[in-house]
Amino acid sequence: RSAGSTARACHEGGHPQRVTGTRVSGWLHRAARDVPVRAPALLVVLIVAGGMLVTTLMAPPASTDLLAIGLAIVLALAAGYALARIDGIVGTLGPALSAVALIAYVRDQTGGGNAGVAALFMIPVIWLALYATTWEAVVGIAATGLTMALPGLVGDSRLYEATEELRRLVAFLIVSSIVLLLSWWMRRELLTDPLTRAGNRRAWDRDLAREIGRAGRSSERLVVAIIDLDRFKQYNDRNGHLAGDRLAAAAQAWREMMRQEDSLVRAGGEEFFLLLPRTSATDAAAALERIRTRTPNGQTCSIGYATWDGHETAGDLLHRADQALYRAKAAGRNRVVAAAPSRTAA
Ligand code: GH3
Ligand code: MG
Ligand code: MG
Repeated sequence: RSAGSTARACHEGGHPQRVTGTRVSGWLHRAARDVPVRAPALLVVLIVAGGMLVTTLMAPPASTDLLAIGLAIVLALAAGYALARIDGIVGTLGPALSAVALIAYVRDQTGGGNAGVAALFMIPVIWLALYATTWEAVVGIAATGLTMALPGLVGDSRLYEATEELRRLVAFLIVSSIVLLLSWWMRRELLTDPLTRAGNRRAWDRDLAREIGRAGRSSERLVVAIIDLDRFKQYNDRNGHLAGDRLAAAAQAWREMMRQEDSLVRAGGEEFFLLLPRTSATDAAAALERIRTRTPNGQTCSIGYATWDGHETAGDLLHRADQALYRAKAAGRNRVVAAAPSRTAA
């Protein structure tokens, strides 16, 4: 939006020759902003493209058509992932499976099983470990293993020695499992607050965006609450390091009262965000009342909550919950307060 208005301002200012430049730089700016998201997908495709190019130059395939088709596919994929935001299963399994197909092709062109190209099959696995959901990763790795094993079963036996291929497959599956387990552990730590083991803001942004998207598609309800421990500064000043234990105990006790699909995150200090998907305002009020009354160690908390109106942004929703929390504090603390209806509510 800002790039567009800059372009217009330039035009009105009598510098039409700069409009195109500003538009292009605006476009580049937007593209560059998204690069970190797409870079790995591009990298997977480009590494394979580079390998393909080098190996086909070293050992040209019998048919030049084959080379042209292969390169065209790679370039189309690279352009696709660079220019469009491709989401969902296609966005994660797409680059992985194309890379697998291309690596298999390169391997075949460069002398088969003993060419050493098989190590490249770990690239799509690493990509899946970083970006795919559990089942996508499992499907992707199974497909990769199958593609690796296929030439050993039905391919040219001079290029692929069956027992050697089997050994390679077993090694591939072991290393892939280790990579997958490590990435699961790493991802969990990335989304967890180390003191309270509740989620962190990164987990919150992900969960809230997902649930708002889901609620929007299915016209379900969704409640967001902010929980803040009362007079925690006093306790902290008196008990110092014990305050940390108390925070962790409160988060633990609340989590035990929540449903599986709810998510609790530590927003900072002694303030927590709670997301209750598929929950009506009435059910939320009961659940939050339970959380308030069962906060451990004689500690009390104040809670503000808001029900998504079907239109408002995540920021607006959270803001309404925050205003409700403010009113709970102002009214004397240790209470649950519902937010005022949003301005956009039907
Ligand atoms: P209120 O009832 O208005 O929320 O009062 P409060 O004292 O809880 O609120 P305020 O936001 O003014 O202060 C929060 C205090 O909580 C600041 C700090 O002393 C304490 N605190 C927040 N996070 C931590 C933490 O991670 N460890 C420790 N030890 N103390 C914390
Ligand atoms: Mg507080
Ligand atoms: Mg606070």
